[in-house]
Amino acid sequence: PRYGETEKVRTTCSYCGVGCQMHLHIKDNRVQRITGADTAPNNGSLCVKGRFGYDFIHSEERLTHPLIREKDGFRKVSWDEALKKIADHFTKIKLQDGPDKMGVLVSARMTNEDNYIAQKFARTVLKTNNIDHCARLCHASTVAGLAASFGSGAMTNPIADIENARVILVTGSNTTETHPVLSGFIKRAVKFNKARLIVIDPRQITLTRFAEKWLRPEPGTNVAWINGLMHVILKENLHDPDFIRQRTIDFDKLKKSLEPYTPEYVASLTGIKEKALIETARIYAAGAPSSIIYCMGITQHSSGTDNVKALANLAMLCGYMGIEGGGVNPLRGQNNVQGACDMGGLPNVYPGYKPVTDPVVRADMEKAWQVADLSPIPGMTVTEMIPAAAEKKIKSLYIIGENPMVSDPDIGHVKKCLKNLDLLVVQDIFMTETGKLAHVVLPATCFAEKNGTFTNTERRIQRIRKAVSPPGNALGDWQIICRLAGQMGMGMSYKNSREIMDEIASVTPSYAGVTYERLEEKGIHWPCPQKDHPGTPILHQETFTNGKGVFHAIEFRVPAEETCPEYPLILTTGRLLYQYHTGTMTMKTAGLNEIAPESHIEISSEDAQNAGLRDGEIAELSSRRGMVTARISISPKAVNGTVFMPFHYARAAANVLTNTALDPVAKIPELKVCAVKLRNI
Ligand code: SF4
Repeated sequence: PRYGETEKVRTTCSYCGVGCQMHLHIKDNRVQRITGADTAPNNGSLCVKGRFGYDFIHSEERLTHPLIREKDGFRKVSWDEALKKIADHFTKIKLQDGPDKMGVLVSARMTNEDNYIAQKFARTVLKTNNIDHCARLCHASTVAGLAASFGSGAMTNPIADIENARVILVTGSNTTETHPVLSGFIKRAVKFNKARLIVIDPRQITLTRFAEKWLRPEPGTNVAWINGLMHVILKENLHDPDFIRQRTIDFDKLKKSLEPYTPEYVASLTGIKEKALIETARIYAAGAPSSIIYCMGITQHSSGTDNVKALANLAMLCGYMGIEGGGVNPLRGQNNVQGACDMGGLPNVYPGYKPVTDPVVRADMEKAWQVADLSPIPGMTVTEMIPAAAEKKIKSLYIIGENPMVSDPDIGHVKKCLKNLDLLVVQDIFMTETGKLAHVVLPATCFAEKNGTFTNTERRIQRIRKAVSPPGNALGDWQIICRLAGQMGMGMSYKNSREIMDEIASVTPSYAGVTYERLEEKGIHWPCPQKDHPGTPILHQETFTNGKGVFHAIEFRVPAEETCPEYPLILTTGRLLYQYHTGTMTMKTAGLNEIAPESHIEISSEDAQNAGLRDGEIAELSSRRGMVTARISISPKAVNGTVFMPFHYARAAANVLTNTALDPVAKIPELKVCAVKLRNI
């Protein structure tokens, strides 16, 4: 130990979905510094957030006591008083209005154990399937699209496998900013293994510097260019007929649907030059293997599920599934977004994606949980629950570790909806923008103060370990929920998180072989169906989860909102390296805030000139839903006609402007495209 440190605790980073392994170095019950652990997936590396973004753990601003809102502000109360108020209210609503007037929002920042207990609480105590989480805003379309194509909605190949790819197609992912350590695998593959990199993104991103091809489609035209690539591959006989014949169905439907997508037609829809499209199709098809890596530039659209299915079509067309260096690889944004989905933090499925509508499944779950009358009705999504509050179709919300007042589209409307609730309970580690609207606020522990597991983007289940004591009276999420269940007369009692994982394994087939002992050294990739099963780094090797892979004929649809004379620019939103999600943790870290203290409007020099704006000036950006002011940042990253804003900041919140139009299948909002106008003030 150095610097008088007394302990070194191995755990998992609490930020992005890469799930880097790290050591917390402890002195006097405080985290002194963080270093990377020399094991998978990061092999010692950490990015700036993981390495330095830990001030928040010991921040003076942490919530330390339960709070109840009164006329003149919040009053500190005991746990008993806070939980009794919530329990009485939930019990009354359940009896008077019915369980489906309540909802629970869980979080990709909670552990698997926390998420499991929260969905069990919603289903067995509240008796509703109204439970959802922020995957609805980032990868709901991945879950829906890949499940429809392959039978399983997750990253198909492990992170380290990127180095086995001969061609890497990155689209809708600013990987160096959002998944920094993973981007190192891409750069190493290009530099040392001579992999060929294709970047398809309207914005110039760091990876474009390493790319052999950079295509710059109009935002919202993904299906068109993906269909265009497949059109060329088929026309030039570059597809894999053996794979298609042996392992897939509905190829003829796909083939027919691709006929119109000639390079000329695709150029007219996307702005991608014909020659560039043809050359890119040839590179991808010549990969053997080629890997597709994507993120929210694909998913956050009203056509999000179609975009994902189209990428699945492309990979199957060339036979790049179930092999090293291939696959379709969605990068999950937050540390446990994969796990929150796996644990059934979704309105239509129990843990392990078992449908709530299936009577056999329901009977099994009733037996396992020793309850009767689980609801057969799929619940509402977060994008349905919050608007439903405006009409009193939802009367109470229990929000754990989420901050929709910054993260959800059309924040002005979100605020009206949340203020219309009879009871809003917010459980978090800080007083968030959403917490300020709550009737009851509950103080929770952060990742350094609890035991449990996170499942990273590559389906690797990994341990987190308690390193320091929580501040004040803060408690772990699952402990709070179990105490609340007790107040409502329902016994939910566990000795520790290990006991919860044992129950998870007993009801979740893909986690059946998982124990804390087995996770001690390295994580395990699910599916891990037995205690002696080694886990499954690559999915769909012999057969797809569904048996055969399914091709889908997908037609291009324009985004829900297009530019017009009044709103002539497109706004697209995204993330920055130095901030994380709604800033709850990173904005409590001095160094990160010094580098990225405020929002900005990234714009091309031509668009700025047309609007009479200079770099650094404050401008007003408005959409049909609202207006924000932020500093202009003229950048070569921006393409003419499109401006970019990071969504992290509550001040100048990009989501004041964004559109609530939903993908009809996944109910994900179109956060990546809306029409805006810019004004010099
Ligand atoms: Fe944490 Fe992601 Fe950075 Fe790794 S890449 S240190 S998981 S934020």
